[in-house]
Amino acid sequence: MNQQKNPYKPMKGIIEKVIPETPGIRTFLVKPESKFSFHCGQFAEVSIPGVGEGPFAMSSPCYKPDKLEFTIQNVGFMTSRLHTLNKGDELGIRGPYGNGFPLEDFYGKEVLLLIGGVGFPPARALLYSLLHEKEKYKRILMCYGARSPEDIVYKYQIDDFRKKIELHLTVDKADKSWKESEGVVTVLLDKVKIDLNNSVAVVIGPPIMMKFGTLKLLEVGYKPKDIYLSMERKMYCGIGQCRHCLIDNLFICKDGPVFTYKQLKDFPDIWE
Ligand SMILES: Cc1cc2nc3c(=O)[nH]c(=O)nc-3n(C[C@H](O)[C@H](O)[C@H](O)COP(=O)(O)OP(=O)(O)OC[C@H]3O[C@@H](n4cnc5c(N)ncnc54)[C@H](O)[C@@H]3O)c2cc1C
Repeated sequence: MNQQKNPYKPMKGIIEKVIPETPGIRTFLVKPESKFSFHCGQFAEVSIPGVGEGPFAMSSPCYKPDKLEFTIQNVGFMTSRLHTLNKGDELGIRGPYGNGFPLEDFYGKEVLLLIGGVGFPPARALLYSLLHEKEKYKRILMCYGARSPEDIVYKYQIDDFRKKIELHLTVDKADKSWKESEGVVTVLLDKVKIDLNNSVAVVIGPPIMMKFGTLKLLEVGYKPKDIYLSMERKMYCGIGQCRHCLIDNLFICKDGPVFTYKQLKDFPDIWE
């Protein structure tokens, strides 16, 4: 963790570029005032001075700590204000927080990413890390689903990712131009052949997608210990003080956000 005397005091970041991804999602390229070292799957509390803050995953490669990217969906008070920011504007960043993905557990295995909607930002940071040491993994494949073709994020990178990994796409509702699958993201699991004895799956997306994605992975034969979930909860402090993000005795901010399904499966209401 970056050493800071006051854990709530953010470091400054300057927005260098804003990329409109979809009508409701933007990516912010941010230069932090000093190196912001993190591990893929961790998150930061991003703030606008005088407005507020919220937790967001770094979507950029963790081996580039001096250039951060956050991909943010406009859903409410803070995110709508973030969406008004432009090149040259200032942000606050504190963290990194959370555990991130245990990449050593994935070594030598087939890694399947099952991703929905705005789950792609943390998944992209993971993907960059996997590709950075591609030889350590047996196979990398990703199934990504969005509501419609226009809701797909990082469209400008899809062809490039496709050259490097096995990537399957689907949309809930296709238009005439769409040439790939139609249906919810779990339909893609019928298309991929996986060596279940040597595979881990990572699920990131909206709660409903994570629930049905996990159930489908169990149905095809994954064990709860091999399913990794990046969980989201309303949270404020990010450091285990405010207790808003508790699931039973686990803090999403401190003990997670990455858990295996085995760790969570016996708690009620984990998909809320
Ligand atoms: C670890 C973590 C990583 C995240 N990474 C990203 C990311 O990369 N990109 C991104 O767009 N969003 C991400 N989020 C969600 C993001 O933090 C919230 O959407 C944001 O804080 C909402 O702020 P707001 O003031 O605009 O919304 P509010 O006005 O506070 O709320 C709008 C609506 O969103 C719901 N909501 C608010 N916060 C959360 C939350 N944390 N989880 C689920 N629902 C919430 C509220 O209940 C309400 O229905 C992440 C959340 C967590 C916990």
